Amino acid sequence: MCAIFGISGNSEASNITYLGLHALQHRGQEGAGIVSTLGSRNFLFKKLGLVSEVFSSATLAQLPGTSAIGHTRYSTAGGNAAENLQPIVLRTSLGWIGVVHNGNLVNAKPLAKKLEQMGSIFQSSADTEVIVHLMARSGESDLVKALVASLKQLEGAYSLLVMDQQYLIAVRDPYGFRPLVLGNLNGKPVFASETTAFDLIGAKYEREVDPGEMIIVPHDRPAELISQYPFRQYEQKKCVFEHIYFARPDSVVFGAGVYETRKALGKRLAQEQPASGMDMVIPVPDSGVYASIGFSEESGIPFEMGIIRSHYIGRTFIEPSQSIRNFGVKLKLNPLSGFLRDKKIVVVDDSLVRGTTSKKLIQHLRESGAKEVHLRISAPPTMHPCFYGIDTPTSKELLASRSTIEQMKELIGADSLGFLSLQGLLETCGSSAGTGFCHACFSGNYPTDSLN
Ligand code: 5GP
Ligand code: SF4
Ligand code: MG
Repeated sequence: MCAIFGISGNSEASNITYLGLHALQHRGQEGAGIVSTLGSRNFLFKKLGLVSEVFSSATLAQLPGTSAIGHTRYSTAGGNAAENLQPIVLRTSLGWIGVVHNGNLVNAKPLAKKLEQMGSIFQSSADTEVIVHLMARSGESDLVKALVASLKQLEGAYSLLVMDQQYLIAVRDPYGFRPLVLGNLNGKPVFASETTAFDLIGAKYEREVDPGEMIIVPHDRPAELISQYPFRQYEQKKCVFEHIYFARPDSVVFGAGVYETRKALGKRLAQEQPASGMDMVIPVPDSGVYASIGFSEESGIPFEMGIIRSHYIGRTFIEPSQSIRNFGVKLKLNPLSGFLRDKKIVVVDDSLVRGTTSKKLIQHLRESGAKEVHLRISAPPTMHPCFYGIDTPTSKELLASRSTIEQMKELIGADSLGFLSLQGLLETCGSSAGTGFCHACFSGNYPTDSLN
């Protein structure tokens, strides 16, 4: 999971990109980067770390120009972290090309191998670089045509911003897996993974970049957006997990408010998986808060913040050498012991992945004196890995892929366990016919050809 941001026609392009990336930091904390352009030159800075650590006013001052694109990277296992940071900027026969990418290309590996055999030299192991190498070898002399030729060979998820000395281009794959939105700042275009970035910089949210749409912005005429649909049409497959967990609750994603959707998921959950006779509904903060509010409203069971979350867990936290049992979860989530004594509680979380957090949390809730602990999840069981840009564990590590709901309940030690149905999820997200969304991690139904 990553975030992208881009802007054209603004004399403070890199400063605004910095702010945009800051608002999108929840989508990736491993590293960040910005490339800006001034005439024929480009200026690139990228580094491991949080957005606020990567950039200083001094580094931003070295990124001049009126157009810029930026990226925050999600930490994934393996690969040299620094070399995989974005933007990727390569010098090609078309001139320099900069790219930022959110998503994952499912056929990048064999294509990269073929390109290497033909003499392409890769700087990173990131699938994103394949896009640029394919552009360079397309035989096209025009950036837009080269990009279309490249993307037509690629399969999977991409929300992309591409820049050269002449254009900023925004493009979203025909399935529309990952979000990408268009905003307006003083009559000039801005692009971001989520609308929350527009709130921060004071831009007006215009609309989604459509699945399969390419929006071309000339640097010298940034108010003139050129929209094209160069790909074959597919049934849209927007990632339903954006609504469940990934996106910020203050964003509008796929045209719907995330906060409202999460609350509605909690309401539907309370209808499908009621928990009667409970003293309180408690969220697993922060991600479970919104569904819990909905669950409480629908069921009439009072909402309480019975678990307090610490926000000071840095990425570099070192566990002390003496091993304290279950240290990890306690460090982040601490139940209010006195308050929970002898209470019957229903705990609501947004998803169950490995089950490790839930298991330890339930143990701590019991140690805190809770009499009954019932777990409700505002999504179906996560049974399959994601190949479209989310770093989910392999099937083996996904608790639901190897256990029944009854077995899961026993394993995590809950008095009862209930999940939202897939139909309930899709209907609540606005798809009464069950179409328009990817739900492969729940159903195993992968939309792209090569995975079926
Ligand atoms: P579990 O109990 O399965 O160990 O963990 C579930 C928790 O992981 C939930 O609270 C959910 O918010 C969170 N979660 C779901 N998907 C992801 C993800 O892709 N990355 C991270 N870091 N957390 C996730
Ligand atoms: Fe989203 Fe799941 Fe589809 Fe991945 S598999 S794109 S997480 S819905
Ligand atoms: Mg969570």
